[in-house]
Amino acid sequence: MQRLFYCVNVAKKFSTKCRDCDRLATFLSEQKKKYPAYFCKPVPAFGDRDAALTIVGLAPGLHGANASGRPFTGDYAGILLYETLYKFGFSTQPESTSADDNLQLNNARITNAVKCVPPQNKPTPAEIRTCNQYLQTELQQVKPDQVVLALGRIAHEAVLRGLNLRLKDYSFGHGAVHAIPEQFTLVDSYHCSRYNTQTRRLTVEQFEAVFAKIKQLLDE
Ligand code: SF4
Repeated sequence: MQRLFYCVNVAKKFSTKCRDCDRLATFLSEQKKKYPAYFCKPVPAFGDRDAALTIVGLAPGLHGANASGRPFTGDYAGILLYETLYKFGFSTQPESTSADDNLQLNNARITNAVKCVPPQNKPTPAEIRTCNQYLQTELQQVKPDQVVLALGRIAHEAVLRGLNLRLKDYSFGHGAVHAIPEQFTLVDSYHCSRYNTQTRRLTVEQFEAVFAKIKQLLDE
């Protein structure tokens, strides 16, 4: 039996009214005053809950998902992601510009480890733990023959926490594939952030190689 890594959160149904993290709720209210047209609420997952591929990012970007209300939409972080999803048949369009641009995901779902935009794009460990209640619910919907792609170490660890697994049993590594017993296959990638792509920590070729692997896993 797996030893529990930390005090287990109870999985909860997501609500855009959640205010469980004081700092983030205050930040959202401040941003709404500053940018009245922005979504400025916890950002829900996008895509079919039965999707074969679930992608987990870090958190909404201030002028991206926090503005549009759709994960990875409206800022730089989504450019490579949606282009790649389109290339591999998971999206009907290569660009996600707004929540009403008619883009649809094919057999894919996108969510974040933390559903509210954090100041400086940095959620605290306590906020990541608190929001795990929602990621846990999303992970419970993933079937054993399906794949979860974690974008970055924080997303990778949030997935493990959502499954009550020990972090040291599944090390993060770009391109790593973890077959999680009685769960699903977890695949890791560096996050497709502006910083990672501009510094070439993550190249287009590396990111596409991860998707090629995912396609292969789903086809097997
Ligand atoms: S980050 Fe998650 S748990 Fe915290 S307030 Fe937002 S939705 Fe609620």
